[in-house]
Amino acid sequence: MSGEDASLRAAVIAAALKMKALGINQGQSGNVSMRCGDGFLVTPSGLPYDSLTPSDIVHVALDGTASGARPPSSEWRFHRDIYAHRPEAGAIVHTHSTFATTLACLGRSIPAIHYEVAFAGGHDIRCAPYRSFGTQELADVALKALEGRKACLLAHHGVIAFDDSLPLALSLADKVESMARLYWQALQVGEPALLDDAEMARMVSRFRTYGR
Ligand code: 13P
Ligand code: ZN
Repeated sequence: MSGEDASLRAAVIAAALKMKALGINQGQSGNVSMRCGDGFLVTPSGLPYDSLTPSDIVHVALDGTASGARPPSSEWRFHRDIYAHRPEAGAIVHTHSTFATTLACLGRSIPAIHYEVAFAGGHDIRCAPYRSFGTQELADVALKALEGRKACLLAHHGVIAFDDSLPLALSLADKVESMARLYWQALQVGEPALLDDAEMARMVSRFRTYGR
């Protein structure tokens, strides 16, 4: 393993640990990847993040060929499909964060309750229908829910967020969780009013450059 390769693998592990520090994942649920060469580096399947070393991280080519000592995340298909179809994706974070997954268990998308919903690239954060974890069917519905967006919910499962880099993908996954929490809290009192399409279009355009 070259020094550069080792440092990219260490960055994937650091992002996986950061999910835990942010409180958006527990145990070994979820996974993290970053684009690398003709494919991507991804966390291995089913291992707790705090025991990972760089050699546990797996390289998967866009044709699905995995190279490494461990099996890649069971969700390598949706990571692969996002890198193949979304050239702007540099890193992907998948979590089972509590409030977003609560809404996903109800099959609810997050509507325009707050201007920061636009961080995900559109007027809402869609919820993809349920498919079994680790399947091509899940990858297919996720890719569709991500059309024009950088994040989506997965019914009865969790969240996918991607962006140019690991820090931005993590920050988006964290933002999805806080939007989900606000929506869930608002629903305890009633149906919140929504921002209109013109305002959300302005926010989407401002977030293309904000903080970058
Ligand atoms: P992996 O450990 O295989 O990445 O699976 C975790 C998960 O969240 C499946 O959806
Ligand atoms: Zn999952």
